[in-house]
Amino acid sequence: MLFARAGLSVRVLEKNSTIGGGARTLDLGLRTGITHDICSAVHPMAVASPFFTEFDLGARGVNLLEPLIQYAQPVTPTTAGLAYRSIERTAQSLGADGNAWRGLLEQLAAHPEAVIAAALSNKRSIPRELITQFPAVAKFGLSVLEQGTGLWNRRFSTDIAPALLTGVAAHAINTLPSFAGAGTALMLAALAHSHGWPIPRGGTGSITTALVEDLLAHNGEIWTDHEVKSRSDLPSAQAYVFDTTPTNALKVLGSSIPDDTAAALKRFRHGNAAAKVDFVLSEPVPWTVSEVGQAGTVHIGGTRADMVAAERTIARGQWASDPVVLLSDPGVVDSSRVKDGYRPLWTYAHVPAGATQDPTEAIISQIEKYAPGFRDTIVAHQAVPASEMELHNPNYIGGDIAGGAANLWQMFARPTPRLNPYSLGTPGAYICSASTTPGQGVHGLSGMYAAKSVLKEVFGEQKLPSLAPQQSRRTHE
Ligand SMILES: Cc1cc2nc3c(=O)[nH]c(=O)nc-3n(C[C@H](O)[C@H](O)[C@H](O)COP(=O)(O)OP(=O)(O)OC[C@H]3O[C@@H](n4cnc5c(N)ncnc54)[C@H](O)[C@@H]3O)c2cc1C
Repeated sequence: MLFARAGLSVRVLEKNSTIGGGARTLDLGLRTGITHDICSAVHPMAVASPFFTEFDLGARGVNLLEPLIQYAQPVTPTTAGLAYRSIERTAQSLGADGNAWRGLLEQLAAHPEAVIAAALSNKRSIPRELITQFPAVAKFGLSVLEQGTGLWNRRFSTDIAPALLTGVAAHAINTLPSFAGAGTALMLAALAHSHGWPIPRGGTGSITTALVEDLLAHNGEIWTDHEVKSRSDLPSAQAYVFDTTPTNALKVLGSSIPDDTAAALKRFRHGNAAAKVDFVLSEPVPWTVSEVGQAGTVHIGGTRADMVAAERTIARGQWASDPVVLLSDPGVVDSSRVKDGYRPLWTYAHVPAGATQDPTEAIISQIEKYAPGFRDTIVAHQAVPASEMELHNPNYIGGDIAGGAANLWQMFARPTPRLNPYSLGTPGAYICSASTTPGQGVHGLSGMYAAKSVLKEVFGEQKLPSLAPQQSRRTHE
């Protein structure tokens, strides 16, 4: 899209018959009129990332709907942590740990641009905010040290607040505590208070539609059903940008990648996995704590200690009996997703890499702990074990939905420690997927940073073209 805006001739080659990869909303044929977000569903980064801030999804007709409660964490059958947009209201709901929550997140939520600069930079340059917003950046760094180590248990005194934060840290799908988990938790928790965790009206696919419309409006081409398996599948071009794993890029480019870069790419590690279940329900999930039903995202996994144990088990390659489960009911904010009373429910469980087991029963029993009777609301479902995630998207090797392990080394060396991490070491070959820094999520930044280096190195352009929409096309709920 940025290349098309720069006036270059652009062709996108997509293996699937639908474009969008991890940002697609599809009819899975489970129930007429019900669509499902087959990967991403909830989009704090689509409102906060510098790419999307300039691209302006709202002006392009994408309606980002914000739930009353951004995310929730049932801890026992009768208690739950609730994160509101208002940090004050969240702190009040956390009782004895309210001040500790405020102390950890207030400054970060007041300066989200500092948090974004620290967490979502290309890890090679020094964003202006790291200097202009130094106190907030320092707070972020110190808080990562606290929440990423054994010190994390010193902050809170009840079970609810640490569980609420750990559910967010678990998005890193790795052992906890860890620096990657703490960085993830602090960034996403701060964004919940500053920008919210919205769900696009009609599903995540509406974000892809806006991006595709912009590409086509600037004369870009999209070729679906076109898998790139070898160099011969590529047209002649001045530059190739791989939105793939390092493994796939290596497979295609083979010996044209220099040995040292190829060796570094081979050292890239994939992480633990997710196994997905999309449900159709006849009614909303019957949460015992009714407020959980107002949350756009629910993290399930019990207490901090329970989630630590579950994440450790899957990292050892074993199936956790009580896995961490992520859940979103878009019908909580988007009535267009509910048809004749039926609604989609998006869930996935953390499982060992490559696990072949069907996750349905594990997910249902985790939800049943906090919503007895959930099983009776299920009308249809489709499960995708971790081992099969790769079939619908080759980027999710073994079910690693993050495109590579989120650990301290790979926060920086993603996919390699090269000065330019987007370069594949041979002229005109680049990589821009979630396997590059800053990693997983629908934020557009890996692509933007990669585009910047391509435009500079191959075409001598010093500046990125503007991303701003040419015409305003706002819609309202
Ligand atoms: C179950 C799940 C839940 C998630 N939840 C969220 C969420 O709520 N919020 C969030 O921000 N993020 C979420 N994510 C993560 C997010 O979807 C990804 O980080 C993001 O989509 C990665 O973008 P990407 O450009 O690297 O690759 P992708 O979006 O995976 O796109 C890569 C594209 O390249 C195509 N491709 C790969 N290899 C080839 C080839 N050889 N030839 C042709 N085409 C090829 C693929 O088919 C795919 O269309 C989730 C992911 C999953 C799977």
